[in-house]
Amino acid sequence: MAKFTSKQCSFCSRPENRVNVLLTGEHGYICDECAEQAHKIIQEAMQSKEDKFSAAKDKTPRPKEIKEFMDQYVIGQDDAKRYLSVAVYNHYKRLSQKEVKDDVEIEKSNIILVGSTGTGKTLLAKTIARMLKVPFTIVDATVLTEAGYVGEDVESLLTRLLQAANYNIKAAERGIVFIDEIDKIARKGDNPSITRDVSGEGVQQGLLKLLEGSVVNVPPQGGRKHPDQQMIAVDTKDILFICGGAFDGIEKKIAQRMNTQVVGYNASRDNKKIDRMNLLQYIAPQDLKSFGLIPEIIGRLPILTYLKSLDRMALRNILTEPKNSIIKQYVKLFAMDNVSLRFDEDVLEYIVDKAIEFKLGARGLRSITEDIMMDAMFEIPSTGQKELHITLDYAKEHIEKTEYQQTAC
Ligand code: ADP
Repeated sequence: MAKFTSKQCSFCSRPENRVNVLLTGEHGYICDECAEQAHKIIQEAMQSKEDKFSAAKDKTPRPKEIKEFMDQYVIGQDDAKRYLSVAVYNHYKRLSQKEVKDDVEIEKSNIILVGSTGTGKTLLAKTIARMLKVPFTIVDATVLTEAGYVGEDVESLLTRLLQAANYNIKAAERGIVFIDEIDKIARKGDNPSITRDVSGEGVQQGLLKLLEGSVVNVPPQGGRKHPDQQMIAVDTKDILFICGGAFDGIEKKIAQRMNTQVVGYNASRDNKKIDRMNLLQYIAPQDLKSFGLIPEIIGRLPILTYLKSLDRMALRNILTEPKNSIIKQYVKLFAMDNVSLRFDEDVLEYIVDKAIEFKLGARGLRSITEDIMMDAMFEIPSTGQKELHITLDYAKEHIEKTEYQQTAC
């Protein structure tokens, strides 16, 4: 520090007699004007830091916005969407809590979706990943086995996530893993098995450490074929796990529980008010336990919600309403060949009828439409035709042709 012969401001060098106030420090002085200037600079810096923080906070979509986003892609399933919106919102908050240091730690809100196949479980999970712009992977729980058995180790979930994140570990550590068919790793009875249950309970035990959040060594290429490969450490504490399963027959467990409740301590409940046609809406963690999920797993999937079976109206809407609906996709495909494609309303009703008849649900809508459109997709690009109008007769003819081909095989 420079030595001062007479008292002067260490910042602007003005002598004591040319300033109003000169504050004395251990190694120098500051005049009133410089002090004021410094104060302004500090205030501005603090403000911009605060702005950045609140801007980041403001960018977090609110639960309603999250649901509105899902509405663009997924028809119906309002209850599931509401639960998911809140879970995702809290997940965001959890990720931002690192900036605020206190003792209250918000726990992870992993999710479990229960609903028949083809009701939109995977679609919901995919839509969330699309919104959050995070790496996303889908894994089938049935391929997982306990370490040491033929099949994939649970760590392979993270290999896939790493691959989806292009091996960007930081991105993968904030990704979403959708574990499909979680019901298939239920143990066979309500009682813990005495003998080892390779495909069920062991896998559930293996999943525990991933779900709760821990640092896991992941083989970057997956599998056990490369025992010498270098492992990558992945911290799962910020990875959101969404599990889905049909849990066929769980309605019986729900009914049993509700009957005991009505007879038992909750006898005042009006039994008649229970909608017995849609028992899934009453699903509770204990039903998952009765089905064969171990309590530790259930505890790590605190958000439990259900998906309704899709009715006729929902199927009809799925055809045209979502942002990337099946019909919109075909219209776009043809537009790329400068062909304007249009469907008569009764064709859409017919596609829905067939999906119901074949018991294919929403999954069937695409394959039925594909069957109707196959010949046109083959022929039209070479004809130079500019318009294609799909009528009921055209649709019926093509579906009957495929049905005939299938029965002939
Ligand atoms: P799940 O995972 O429940 O078995 P998916 O999400 O894979 O079912 O859905 C199967 C197909 O049906 C997908 O192509 C999806 O686009 C469509 N689908 C299912 N449910 C809905 C829905 N509620 N809204 C829009 N499309 C749906």
